[in-house]
Amino acid sequence: MAEQFDVVIVGGGQAALAASYFLRRTGLRYVILDNGTQAGGAWVHGWDSLHLFSPASYSSLLGWPMPDTPDGGYPTRDEVLDYLHRYEARYAPPIRRPVTVGRVERAGGKFLNIRTNAGDFLSRAVIGATGTWSVPFVPDVAGHEFFGGTQIHSAHYQSAAPFAGRRVLVVGGGNSGAQILPEVSLLANATWVTLEDPVFLPDDVDGRVLFERATARVLGNAGAMPTGGFGDIVMVPPVRAAKARGVLHAVRPFVRMTATGVVWPDGREEAIDAIIWCTGFRPALSAFAPLDVIEPDGLIHVNGQQAIREPRLWLLGYGSWCGPASATLLGAGRVARSMVRQLAGWLASPTQDVR
Ligand code: FAD
Repeated sequence: MAEQFDVVIVGGGQAALAASYFLRRTGLRYVILDNGTQAGGAWVHGWDSLHLFSPASYSSLLGWPMPDTPDGGYPTRDEVLDYLHRYEARYAPPIRRPVTVGRVERAGGKFLNIRTNAGDFLSRAVIGATGTWSVPFVPDVAGHEFFGGTQIHSAHYQSAAPFAGRRVLVVGGGNSGAQILPEVSLLANATWVTLEDPVFLPDDVDGRVLFERATARVLGNAGAMPTGGFGDIVMVPPVRAAKARGVLHAVRPFVRMTATGVVWPDGREEAIDAIIWCTGFRPALSAFAPLDVIEPDGLIHVNGQQAIREPRLWLLGYGSWCGPASATLLGAGRVARSMVRQLAGWLASPTQDVR
């Protein structure tokens, strides 16, 4: 017989921890189902030298702040992982691992049926917190299938070592490309490929300012803020050093791939050994598809965090489309606070509008 809950959280990364922090005070019965084998969500898969783009004080979940790094700088992947492990140990949220949610379906009446490899769960509400790491995006470039060299997405990149001495393209003008290009360029003949000239933030602008910008934009006060956003490149120390070395210049994309390389817009063909795609991610929403909530744009449309086509489904993390800066540590906490208040109110209301 399926276990019953008020709320099931699908995914056990930082967004789930943020929701759990507020849910535990509500008295609602809830569980977190995560297919990872340890704490940390996507951070477990980050590359070895990954740096956050804000200091620890701006990179914390609510309740217990991330300790400052010894040098007061930007925390590394390992420091974030350590923090999330300790955060879990401190609050002991009800997480079950590894449990993969395959499908979330309507169960009739008041419940959703959450089908997993560890059996079925019934719940009055589901919070989707599955993140984006499992759906890396690679653009559909002509000839993609013929390329015989190495292709890797930043989702699976660990370090520059395997690229030593090779001719490498780093594709993508966001923070991933901007952090990976510098270290690859130390060992390989690397070229940075971006759609447009990358936008570098001033050295004194980091995640702190970006949080405020994202929030202002969502609240409709963007006119009061300087322009810029999460896509702009934060000058963390390795990026700053690369700029000083003169390696941070970018060229426009190749038009096609061949068996041995790429063809540039001027028709020139070049032999390439490896391409590192730093081209972003899409939200991991496929488990919710049976609810018929995924729109042609690939998103689930929400009012705040509540799915418009299925009010029992709530979404946290993913990106600013489901809450200001909600894909970040600080943003997830802020959004979770208001989301859990609304979710608890909705569950307590006698007139839940469900199909
Ligand atoms: P995730 O961490 O991806 O967690 C989701 C969990 O759900 C995972 O454990 C996954 O395995 C699990 N899951 C997925 N599908 C299922 C399923 N069907 N069933 C069960 N479990 C499932 N953030 C900041 O706050 N500050 C920064 O400075 C910062 N810098 C960044 C720099 C880079 C280069 C990158 C790439 C990201 C950065 N981030 C930063 C982003 C961010 O914090 C992550 O995207 C974050 O991991 C998102 O958390 P999440 O909980 O939403 O998702």
